[in-house]
Amino acid sequence: MPHAEHQLREDILRVGRFCFDRGWIAASDGNVSVRLPDDRILITPAGMCKGMLKCEDLVICDLEGNKLEGERNPSTEMDMHLTVYKMREDIRSVVHAHPPVATGFAAAGRELNLGILPEVIVRLGSVPLARYGTPGTRELSDGMMPYVPSYDALLLANHGAVAWGEDPFQAFFRMDTVEHYARIALVAHLLGGAKPLPRVEIEKLFAARARYGVKTNNRFEPGSPLTAEDVAEDSATPEKFELTREQLLAVIEEALRAASDRPSILAPASSRS
Ligand SMILES: [Zn+2]
Repeated sequence: MPHAEHQLREDILRVGRFCFDRGWIAASDGNVSVRLPDDRILITPAGMCKGMLKCEDLVICDLEGNKLEGERNPSTEMDMHLTVYKMREDIRSVVHAHPPVATGFAAAGRELNLGILPEVIVRLGSVPLARYGTPGTRELSDGMMPYVPSYDALLLANHGAVAWGEDPFQAFFRMDTVEHYARIALVAHLLGGAKPLPRVEIEKLFAARARYGVKTNNRFEPGSPLTAEDVAEDSATPEKFELTREQLLAVIEEALRAASDRPSILAPASSRS
């Protein structure tokens, strides 16, 4: 085995341990892969804890998911990884996990799209939500495809998150940023709601990416991330309020009583006289 491949196997094991130790994956959840030369994909096996793997547990497949090397079966989420490698030639590693707070957002059907934290805006822009697809099927990858070209991390509805990068650590750190962002967004929500930065400040952060050495296809687009102005426009729309069933019935009853005291505006004019 070439030295470089051995090192990449060690890197996958390390990232698997990080994900497990942080509580981002339970039991045999999650998967990590790397693109080797000649578009061969080195990936974690199905059905094993990713925090306790050995180098020889990893499997090599081609870009169509056919197994080329290894004793074990490749991850059942192989297609998620292959979709990213096929759509993004610049990507060399993919990490998929279920970090609990980010996955909570995904289960609530909420993307992470508020422009609230400079580091997140510089590194990721925002984190969209891919529509639900049954795990291990083409449906799941289809939901990801609209976002793969211009984002580096996604939430997967009712499932988890996925991030990619030029090596396993960059993919892992992007996932780390997603989970940290989700935790802060949740606390801000509990404290009365996050206050996004104004558009001009978000533009400055996007412009600062070169200074921080951030290489990404992500661009500032309307709603991604949401600015202070976007949120102000939203709150300018008429306020919604809620009634219980009892309150609603009381309102209807009151309206009917008031109507019966007066001639009906709906009745023909002749019957009013
Ligand atoms: Zn999963």
